[in-house]
This record gives sequence, C-alpha cells and structure tokens, in this order.
Amino acid sequence: MPKIAVIGAGPAGIAASIQLSRAGHEVTVFEHGIIGGNLWNAGFVENYPGFPGGITGKHLAQLMEEQFQEYDFVLRRIEVTKAAFTGTHFTVNSAGNEEYDGMILCTGTRPKKAGFPGEDELHGVGLLHYNIMRLEEWYPEGNALVVGGGESSMDMAMTLAERGLKVTLLHRSELRGIKYLLDAVKIDDSITVTEGSVESVRLHGGKAVARIGTEELPFDLILVAVGRESHLPELEGIDPEYPPAGFRIVGDAKHGGLGQAAMAVGDGIRAAMGIGREARK
Ligand SMILES: Cc1cc2nc3c(=O)[nH]c(=O)nc-3n(C[C@H](O)[C@H](O)[C@H](O)COP(=O)(O)OP(=O)(O)OC[C@H]3O[C@@H](n4cnc5c(N)ncnc54)[C@H](O)[C@@H]3O)c2cc1C
Repeated sequence: MPKIAVIGAGPAGIAASIQLSRAGHEVTVFEHGIIGGNLWNAGFVENYPGFPGGITGKHLAQLMEEQFQEYDFVLRRIEVTKAAFTGTHFTVNSAGNEEYDGMILCTGTRPKKAGFPGEDELHGVGLLHYNIMRLEEWYPEGNALVVGGGESSMDMAMTLAERGLKVTLLHRSELRGIKYLLDAVKIDDSITVTEGSVESVRLHGGKAVARIGTEELPFDLILVAVGRESHLPELEGIDPEYPPAGFRIVGDAKHGGLGQAAMAVGDGIRAAMGIGREARK
C-alpha cells in the first residue's frame, strides 16, 4: 500500500489522515503542537456544519482528535523542518531511510508580529502572547490589551472576557468582521473597544506597560492578533507552483489567514482522495 506523510494535525491534516486511512494507505502524521491546531484559538465556532447553535473551538478540536484517534496511522511528535522530493519519493527532515509515496502539507499559519518596540522582550517574559491556546492552563487575572481589528482579535477578546479579564480591544481604524462578533464585543461589559495604535511596550513592576498615543497604560497581559500568514517548512526539490504528483499543500497553509475550518477539512479530504489515486499509479 502507498505510504503517505501528512504534516500537521489541524482540521486539514485530521481530515486527510482519516480519509487516507479509510482507503487503506499507510499514513504517518507529523505534529509538533496540539492536535486540532488553530481551532484551539477559536472561542466560538458557529459556521461548522453539524453543530446547531455553534460549538467552542476547543470542543470541536477535541471531537476531531477523538475521531482521528479511531483510525490507524503512525503519529510522530516532531517538527518537520524540511520536506523534500528526491525525484521518486518524499522525505522528511532529510531522513533518507523513511520514504513516502505521497505527502500532504497541512501546516497552517503562524501569527504575524505587530512590530512595535519591546514586543519580543515582553513575549520572552510571558506577558505578551499571540495564541489563546498557549494560555489554556494559565489565565492571568486583571486586565488585558488585545491588539487587532479583525475577527480573531474580537474572538480572542471575548474568550479573555469570559475568563474574567477586563479587556481593552485596540484597533487602528475600524473593527472588521461578521455581524455576530461585531455585536458581541460591543455589548460585552468587560470589553472596551478603542481606536489607536501601540507605539511601544515595556516591562515595569511585573506589568506590561503599553504606550498608546501619549498615554502609558499597565496591563497584565497583551494579546497580539494582527493577522496570520501561511507557514511551511523548507521545501527541497518541490516547487509549490508546479508540485510533483503526489504532493499537496492544503488548508490554511494554502489560504493564509483567510481560511476556515470547514475549508481546511474539505481541502484535506480532496487532497487525500487525489493523492491516493496518484500514489497507486
Ligand atoms: C481566533 C480564531 C477564531 C477562529 N474562528 C473560526 C470559526 O469561527 N470558524 C472557522 O471555521 N474557523 C475559525 N478559525 C480558523 C480555523 O481555526 C482554521 O481555519 C483551521 O484551524 C485551519 O486548519 P489547518 O489544518 O489548515 O491549520 P491549523 O489548524 O493551523 O493546523 C496546522 C497544524 O500543523 C502543525 N504544524 C505546523 N507546522 C508544523 C511542522 N513544521 N511540523 C509538524 N507540525 C506542524 C501545527 O502545530 C497545527 O497543529 C479561527 C481561527 C482563530 C485564530
């Protein structure tokens, strides 16, 4: 049976792995983070079919993992830094003794930095984050600054407010997103929506101090949600524009920050079905 490598176990990788496994392929899944991927950042998902009334991102990720674990595959808990095509086979991290007939890259996105002075220092001491899921086991008390004007920033502001924090949601010009989120942040008493931009941040007295215009304001947490970008390992012998047969990039890794879970799942299944046919030839 063809051996297929699936890189990343977010919604796209989970769907691809299940489909490949159902078809009887030998599947190896590589995942260096949390199974379920970026869904762990999503507070509330109301547009994934099958869940009337919506479902939390965390619960949807857990259900996807439960279903994923029902199937046969090898799960490798490592980061793939390089994906290569030798001309006949695919390899991962230059491990020449492990060859695959097909490969599906489902590595999703990584958050963009805001770029203000002090950002890396505060991230280093754990006062500035880019992902809600990193806070899952530990939520600070007090107040939080969420930087960004898109749907992710509103969704994350609501998650922090639900955890009891007083949230300032800072956007540069306007909040952009679907009506449900725009309405929800405006009526939430724990969220103050403010226009402005962060000039710099610094650590002072155990707090994250942000300079916003002429004011310096202390926060217990800063969350930066200014967009996400496609995240791929190094590719060798693979041109993403003209990929070899048996290779696909799917989900958010392909769509960037504009992807949705249902799109990733559909992409993953389509890729698995296509690669399954190609790898058999
Ligand atoms: C705040 C927020 C709210 C959202 N709300 C919604 C919503 O309401 N509805 C909706 O449909 N979607 C929503 N989304 C988007 C949704 O989460 C994504 O579209 C979806 O998770 C993309 O799936 P994916 O599998 O393509 O990528 P991801 O979910 O990003 O998964 C990629 C996986 O690959 C792993 N990985 C990455 N690189 C490597 C590597 N080199 N080696 C090994 N493993 C690797 C990662 O650890 C991760 O598990 C939201 C996202 C955010 C941030």
